[in-house]
Amino acid sequence: MKHILVTGGAGFIGSNFIIRILGKLNCKVMNIDKLTYSGNLDNLSGVKENYDFLELDIVDKDRVKEAIMKFEPDVIINFAAESHVDRSIDNCSDFINTNILGTINLLEASLTYYQENKKDNFKFVHISTDEVYGSLGDSGSFSEDSTYAPSSPYSASKASSDHFVTSWIKTFGLPTIITNCSNNYGPFQFPEKLIPLMIINAINENKLPVYGKGDNVRDWIHVDDHCDAIIRIIEDGKVGEKYNIGGECEKKNIEIVEEICDIIDVLRPRNSNKSYRELIEFVNDRPGHDYRYAIDSSKINSALDWKPKINFNDGMRNTVKWYIENSNWWNEIIEKRYNLERLGRA
Ligand code: NAD
Repeated sequence: MKHILVTGGAGFIGSNFIIRILGKLNCKVMNIDKLTYSGNLDNLSGVKENYDFLELDIVDKDRVKEAIMKFEPDVIINFAAESHVDRSIDNCSDFINTNILGTINLLEASLTYYQENKKDNFKFVHISTDEVYGSLGDSGSFSEDSTYAPSSPYSASKASSDHFVTSWIKTFGLPTIITNCSNNYGPFQFPEKLIPLMIINAINENKLPVYGKGDNVRDWIHVDDHCDAIIRIIEDGKVGEKYNIGGECEKKNIEIVEEICDIIDVLRPRNSNKSYRELIEFVNDRPGHDYRYAIDSSKINSALDWKPKINFNDGMRNTVKWYIENSNWWNEIIEKRYNLERLGRA
């Protein structure tokens, strides 16, 4: 039975990944997570078998090494990160610690473990973002060969961690793979991110603050499609490679917000019968806001026979429905563990 060590498994993508891989592969999962403001074990309350959790900061070098040595993983998947661009603009020290130093600790511990155990087919899979490539104009897309040109402290910290991962295979021979994925959406996403923020604000009849004129373009992928791509990489991904993962779905931010309003208009009409679109307001743009991201996923499409399967309209309707039906999940976060001021920001 494959042993899969997941870092950051209590976050949005990590928890969806654990649920998905345990349903698809015969494996045992160890989740190590510091439980920062965005980590939430409630996401995994339905997971009972072949699963262990260890509360651990990946910056704690000795304990990271001990955990890896004890669990004897076949695969390590590094999701753990500080993930919100706006927070990195306010203060980037946690981003440097977790995203850069934490990743280096994992690499060092993985190398010691790999050299001592010589596990066949061991893989260190580092989960990164399309934001490392910087901004595109109106045309073109990011391939695995695109130059790194990060704009925010968040993307700079992720770019840095990607370079360290690459250096660990080139210098030390650690079998690593890097993935760079576009914007994810789906259940369990922390309420500060664009889609859950807009859904929750709309449900609460609060303003829907959109940066600039909402013209910024992102590629959107359902989290299940992203997780399936990672599972394909665990199964057949080639060590030393990078894989770009995208949803083939470019949308302006304003289109996303209007689509959310239109779905909630149907699922949960306002008492006034007015559209939720009335709540949209444009606010000062984020500094350094990249204009457009687009992903060329042709490499993973052909090499690993992976393609996104979830149609955006269906995925978004189900996501909105999930937030409407799971208000306990996000109300608890907002009441207990969240800086409420941020609910005004997209
Ligand atoms: P998230 O913020 O929801 O989850 C991050 C998790 O990491 C949390 O559970 C948190 O407690 C944990 N964590 C943070 N610091 C830690 C530390 N020092 N030690 C151990 N655990 C720690 O983030 P997410 O959206 O699930 O993103 C997961 C990964 O995917 C990140 O590396 C992110 O850069 C990458 N990514 C995200 C997206 C996206 O759209 N969300 C897109 C591409 C790539």
